[in-house]
Amino acid sequence: MNAYVVSRELLEHNIAQLKKQAKGVPIWAVIKGDGYGLGALPLAELLAENGIDRFCVTEVREAEVLRENGFRDADILMLRSVSDRETLNRLLDLDVILTVGSWETALAVDTLAKERADIAAVHLKIDTGMGRYGFRPEEIERVIALYREMKHLAVSGIYTHFNCAFGDEKLTRQEFAAFQGVVAQLRAAGLETGIVHCCNSSAFLKYPEMHCDGVRLGSAILGRMPFRTKLRPVGYMESAVEELHVVPKGHSTGYGAIWTARRETRLAIVPVGWYHGFHVGCQPYMTRTIDCLRAAFSALKGIVRKQQTYVEVGGKRCRVVGVVGMLHCAVDVTDVPCSVGDRVILQVNPLHQKGVQVVYRK
Ligand SMILES: *Cc1c(COP(=O)(O)O)cnc(C)c1O
Repeated sequence: MNAYVVSRELLEHNIAQLKKQAKGVPIWAVIKGDGYGLGALPLAELLAENGIDRFCVTEVREAEVLRENGFRDADILMLRSVSDRETLNRLLDLDVILTVGSWETALAVDTLAKERADIAAVHLKIDTGMGRYGFRPEEIERVIALYREMKHLAVSGIYTHFNCAFGDEKLTRQEFAAFQGVVAQLRAAGLETGIVHCCNSSAFLKYPEMHCDGVRLGSAILGRMPFRTKLRPVGYMESAVEELHVVPKGHSTGYGAIWTARRETRLAIVPVGWYHGFHVGCQPYMTRTIDCLRAAFSALKGIVRKQQTYVEVGGKRCRVVGVVGMLHCAVDVTDVPCSVGDRVILQVNPLHQKGVQVVYRK
C-alpha cells in the first residue's frame, strides 16, 4: 500500500539544527497546509516533544485539532487576517492569537471582542513588500489610532512577511529596515508592540541579525529549502511493484507513446502517479523576464542532459520511462532483479502528496 513516510529521526535532526541556529530565540512552527502535508497534529506532537510549543496556522481546523488533542496552553497564531464573525468567534473560543492587517479587520475583531466582554490578543501585520495582508509603513498613523481607539484589542506582537528572502538580499534588507522603522515609531509613541518577528525559513537561515523576538519556520523543519543547507528532507513516498512485464523492442508504455523500448525491457508498474504528487513540481516564479529566461535555460539544460526521473526499486536506482500517469508509472528494471511486492521509494513534494496515508517512522 502506498504511504508517505516521515522519518522522526530526520525531523528531529532538523529541529535540533534549527534550535541551535535560533540561539534561544523562540521558534514558532508553521503548520499550515495541514503541516505542509505531514499532518498538522503528528507534526505538532513531534515538535512539542522537541521543545517547540508555539504554532502558526491558517485554518480554524488546524487550531481546533491542536486544542482538541492536548495543546491547551500552546500559543497559536492565526497567520491571516479574519473578519468573518463566525470564524472570529470560533478562533476566540479557541484562544487563538489573531492577525490584524487592516483597519476593517481591527474593527471587526474589536467589535466582537467587546460583545463577548473579552480582550482579543492580536499581532499587527505590517506589509513591507508582499502586498497582501498588512498596514503599509506609511499608514503608521492608522496603527497608532488603532491602539487608542480599539479598547478590546491587546497587541502582543507585530510582524511582517518577506516576499523575496530566498533570493533578493537588497530588497529583504530594505523591507527589514522599513519594518524596524514601524516598530521604532510605535515605541517612540509610547506603545507596546509585544514580540517582534519577521523571519520565515529563508530569512532565518540567511540573516541571523533579523531573528528579533521570534521566527516562523515551516519549510526548514521539513528540510526543503531552495538553497543548500545542513537540513535533511524528512519524507518520501513508499510503494511497491504491482506488476512486472517484459516488453519487446519497439513496444511503448504510457500515454502519448513518448518512450519506446530500444531493447527487450522489463518494466515494473508502480501505482503512484501525479495524483499522488509524483513528478509534479512547483511552478517556477516566472514573474520577470529574467525569471522566464532562467526557466527556459534550465529547461534547455534538462533537454541537453536528458534529465531523467529515478525511483528506488529494492534499494536500486531505476529510471522511470514514459509519461507519468495520474495513478501509475513504469520503471525500467531490466538490469535489476526484483519481484512483485518489492519496495519502491519515490521522491515527492509532501505539499502535493495526497490520496495516501502519512506514516511516521523511526
Ligand atoms: C508560510 C509562512 C511562513 C513560513 O514560511 P517558510 O518559508 O515555509 O518557513 C512564515 N510566515 C508566514 C506569514 C507564512 O505565511
